[in-house]
Amino acid sequence: MTKKIVVLGSLNVDSIMKMPRMPLVGETMALTDVTAAPGGKGANQAVAAARQGAQVAFIGAVGQDNNGHFMRQTLADQAVDVAAIQTNATVPTGSAYIMLQDNGANTILIHGGANQALTVDDLDEDLIAQADTLIAQFEVPLAVITAAFKMAKAHNVQTVLNPAPAVYEVTPTLANLTDIILPNETEAQLLTGITVENDRAVLNQVSDAILATGVARSIITLGEAGSFIADGANRWWAKPKKVAAVDTTAAGDTFIGTLASELAADFSNLVDAVDRASTASAIAVTRPGAIPSIPTREEVDQF
Ligand code: ADP
Repeated sequence: MTKKIVVLGSLNVDSIMKMPRMPLVGETMALTDVTAAPGGKGANQAVAAARQGAQVAFIGAVGQDNNGHFMRQTLADQAVDVAAIQTNATVPTGSAYIMLQDNGANTILIHGGANQALTVDDLDEDLIAQADTLIAQFEVPLAVITAAFKMAKAHNVQTVLNPAPAVYEVTPTLANLTDIILPNETEAQLLTGITVENDRAVLNQVSDAILATGVARSIITLGEAGSFIADGANRWWAKPKKVAAVDTTAAGDTFIGTLASELAADFSNLVDAVDRASTASAIAVTRPGAIPSIPTREEVDQF
C-alpha cells in the first residue's frame, strides 16, 4: 500500500561558503571553500518521503536557469514526479547562502526567488485530490498554502504543515485545515509566545496553545531531546534515538517526510510513525549534508 504524497514547497540551491570567521562590514575576505547543494525544505521533505517508499509529486516553481534544471533533476533522480513544477521566466530559482565558520556556527541568507512568486493558479487541484497526504512548509506564499489545504480538505486528503521558517502566523483558517502541525522548538515558541523548555508541563502548555488555534494534532520536534506529541488530550514524549550527531541539517525535514510516508489516514499508527520518523532523523544527523544524509527505507529498517 504505497502512500501518495504531494509536497507543496520550496526548491533552493544552497551555496555553502566556508570561511574562518564572519567578514567585517567593508572587509574583503577569501573563502576557504564553496560548494553547491540541492536544498529547500520542500525538496528535502519530498526526498525523505520518496526514500521511505512513498509515491511523491512536487508542486513548486523554479526559474528558467541552470539551478532550476539542477533542482528538477535532483528530485527526478529520487523518483519524485516533477511534472507540476512550474518554470518562472522572469524570477530566478530560489537560493540560500550558508556562511559556515570554522567554529561550526552558520549564518544563512535566503532569496526566495521563484518559490515566492508561486501563485494559487500554479496549484494542480487534480494532483492534490489524488493524494493521500499534502505537506507544506512556510517557504512559499501563505495564500498558496491556504488554497492548497482547502483543496486537500475538499477531497479528504490529510494535511501536514511544517510552519518553518516561522515567517507567517498560522491563521485560524489555515489551522482549521491542518491535520497535523510540526514546529521545531523555535517555531513552537514563535507560534505560541511561550518559551519552550524540555519539561513536560511546559510542553503540555505549548501544545495546548497550538491546539487552541484549531489544529487537530501537533508534534514539537526538540532536536536531541526527541519530540513531544499532542493528539487531543493524548500526550507523549518520543525519546530520541541515541546516535553520534555530526550535522543536524535536514533532521526536521527527514522527520516530516518519513512521518507523512508512514501515517495512516485515520492516524491510528501515530505512535509507530513517530518512532520511525525519530529513527530516520537520527540516522540523518549522523551524516553530513541535507539530501545526501536522508536515509532509505532499508537503512531505517536495519537501524
Ligand atoms: P529541525 O531540523 O527542524 O530544527 P529538530 O532539530 O527538532 O528539527 O530535529 C528533528 C528530529 O530529529 C528530532 O525530533 C529528533 O527526533 C531528531 N534529532 C535531531 N537531532 C538529534 C540528535 N542529536 N540525536 C538524535 N536524534 C536527533
